[in-house]
Amino acid sequence: MTLNGTKQTDLRLCAVSADVGEALGARVYAAPERPSRTAFQRDRERIVQARAFRRLAGKTQVFTSRASDHFRSRLTHTIEVMQIARSVAEALGLNQDLAETLALVHDIGHPPFGHAGERALDECLKRHGLRFDHNLHALRIVEHFEQRYAAHRGLNLTLGVREGIIKHSRDYNPAEYPDLAGYLLGKRPPLEAQIIDLADEIAYLTADLDDGVESGLLEIDHIRRHVDILAHCYAQVERQHAGVDAKFLFNEALQLMQNVLTDDLIATTLANTHAIGATTLDQVRDHPARLATFSALAEAHRLQEKRYLYDTLYTCDALSLEHSKAEQVVTELFDFWIKEPQELPVGYVDEIETEGLARVVADYIAGMTDSFILLQYAQVKRTIRRK
Ligand code: MG
Repeated sequence: MTLNGTKQTDLRLCAVSADVGEALGARVYAAPERPSRTAFQRDRERIVQARAFRRLAGKTQVFTSRASDHFRSRLTHTIEVMQIARSVAEALGLNQDLAETLALVHDIGHPPFGHAGERALDECLKRHGLRFDHNLHALRIVEHFEQRYAAHRGLNLTLGVREGIIKHSRDYNPAEYPDLAGYLLGKRPPLEAQIIDLADEIAYLTADLDDGVESGLLEIDHIRRHVDILAHCYAQVERQHAGVDAKFLFNEALQLMQNVLTDDLIATTLANTHAIGATTLDQVRDHPARLATFSALAEAHRLQEKRYLYDTLYTCDALSLEHSKAEQVVTELFDFWIKEPQELPVGYVDEIETEGLARVVADYIAGMTDSFILLQYAQVKRTIRRK
């Protein structure tokens, strides 16, 4: 099954990616070259060794309470995005090291408790005239909070990785973000960054159906009735494996769905890039729209499934209860430290003068894992009771 009518050619996009290493390998602080590794491979190591990366293991993807050890965490989700992004980059002839590195770092700015935590933190900051944006927070992590080097703060990542961190999932209005002028906000990011958001979509569209069924909150037959792409894939594998248990057919169908969407992304991105005759990075950057897209049919399937997941899984009673609890924990902790900033760890107190109290409190909370924030919550409750 293919969703894109375009016949895949072997005219890969090596040319548009040929100068990515040279154009985007610059670092803020001079770092001697390592002949055995590319600049993006070195960034991959810097990210994998970062404390914020390790904390992804303790952060929610969808399910806040770990009723099963089989659910994805942010870390395992990240690894799934990485392998999809890398195979798409390879098929398209793009820079695989840059794509892999961007996938590994793409969720590093997420706070605890998944989107519920992010929403709550954003609401808290709005009361202080600020916003929480996980891409911009990720940039703060790699530029500011990670401290591994004697000569400077941050990981000193290449321009290509820093630009991709900001722009992998959205564009920013240059007039609103003058601080980010160095990241060519008026231009599209390289294809290696453009594919990350779509690899992310493919990963979670597959994984959330899987974890949803594992949790007992979704049923295979219900999904088949309401999610056309899964229904098509299920019918295909059912023909190939007659008489096999539904759970195995479902697993096969998920695998096929992931392959179909990945192949569609590869073929459509290739066709889009050839259609405008782009052969250089600058042409990709100057094009008014992103060139990495799904076909119209795959996009319709994506939207249908996303709506289904939203209505049936993300907002179901069981998860809504978890989300309300998560929002309460984040909000109460935020309010506590706004009132009692001296209770923050020393390193954060030192930052208040330059960053402002609300941003510092949000930075502290955003870095926490699910288990650490719950420990903090219990401790703060005890402190409040003693006062
Ligand atoms: Mg993600």
